[in-house]
Amino acid sequence: MDKITDEVNGYFRPELKFNYKSNTFLLMTHVLFAPMYWYYHFDILFYYNFISIFVFTYLYLPLKRQEQKKYLIISFSEIYVYMILNIALLGWEYGYQTYCLGFIICLLLCDFYMGKGLRVNRFVKVTIAADTIVFFAFRIYFYFNEPLYHAKEPYVAKTFYVCNSLVSFIMIIAVTAKFISIVYDLESKLLNSASTDTLTGLPNRRKMYMVVDDERSKISRDEFVALAMMDIDHFKVVNDTYGHKAGDEVLKDLAMKLEKIARENPAFQVFRWGGEEFVMIYTGKFLNRNESEIFFKDLQEKISNNDVEYKGKKIAYTITMGVTFYEGKIELDKMVSASDELMYVGKEHGRNCVVFEN
Ligand code: GH3
Ligand code: MG
Ligand code: MG
Repeated sequence: MDKITDEVNGYFRPELKFNYKSNTFLLMTHVLFAPMYWYYHFDILFYYNFISIFVFTYLYLPLKRQEQKKYLIISFSEIYVYMILNIALLGWEYGYQTYCLGFIICLLLCDFYMGKGLRVNRFVKVTIAADTIVFFAFRIYFYFNEPLYHAKEPYVAKTFYVCNSLVSFIMIIAVTAKFISIVYDLESKLLNSASTDTLTGLPNRRKMYMVVDDERSKISRDEFVALAMMDIDHFKVVNDTYGHKAGDEVLKDLAMKLEKIARENPAFQVFRWGGEEFVMIYTGKFLNRNESEIFFKDLQEKISNNDVEYKGKKIAYTITMGVTFYEGKIELDKMVSASDELMYVGKEHGRNCVVFEN
């Protein structure tokens, strides 16, 4: 089970890309703070800020080497220490506590990237709890105590507060936007995978309903629709004689032939309906009823007169088709069941044939 989970995660997990841009943003933030710390004699912060600038300059290296995990651990640790030090020495007035909130969001996103799927790992839970405690502990502490550093001019704290909250807001917005785009990406990957047949790569029945529902409104009055339900004859015998794997090869062969037509002409769409049954839909202006009958008859004959090579053996197979037509609007359910009934009429009449709607 774990192996499957890992495979699914590996397939769906988006690639983590912390880039030079985000690193430069963090580096520049520290560079900008340096002269302010120096000017107001916030000595400890000034010296620590040097370490920060050094750290973010160094961090280009793991980025270059694609060592994303290393980058995350170092940058998070730096930001965390930096935040605590600033709140502890400057107090509440300078707005460094706003990073506590940004920190939680960044941490959760990175955990989503790095961790196993959507489960939040214990280290992250502990860090978020610590972050929350830091926030409230300092809040309460500074109700009763004055911070070590304080600039005389009142506008200094205000300027710091605005700058810090701005940086926090930008961080929260950027990270949340990134998170949303990842979730959308995941959603479309999942949807795609849920609507694709794994054996043949064709869209499945679910996709067919989605596509037709979507297109129903777009079909114009002068367009003609034909729906063919096709089923491999005596497929059970193919499986029993040559094995299930050989049967799979036959299904892939038929799918490939149908897919080729759809690829060359977008008016045709092909779906694996289930088992050894496939649906082909034509929607367009170029075929009329007579021409489409010729087309489907020809297709059925071509497929049924071909063999599949499997492990040196030639496997012959035939198909039976039922085809219905519609001018105007598609009523998919009705067309599918009508084509299916016609296909069964073909089975009863000896298979390897096409039965058209009267
Ligand atoms: P008919 O001509 O009346 O359609 O006979 P049939 O043997 O083709 O039909 P039946 O419904 O009796 O058997 C269909 C078989 O298709 C049974 C099932 O094991 C096989 N099958 C369904 N899906 C797959 C698949 O993905 N791979 C393989 N190898 N076989 C499949
Ligand atoms: Mg069948
Ligand atoms: Mg069959």
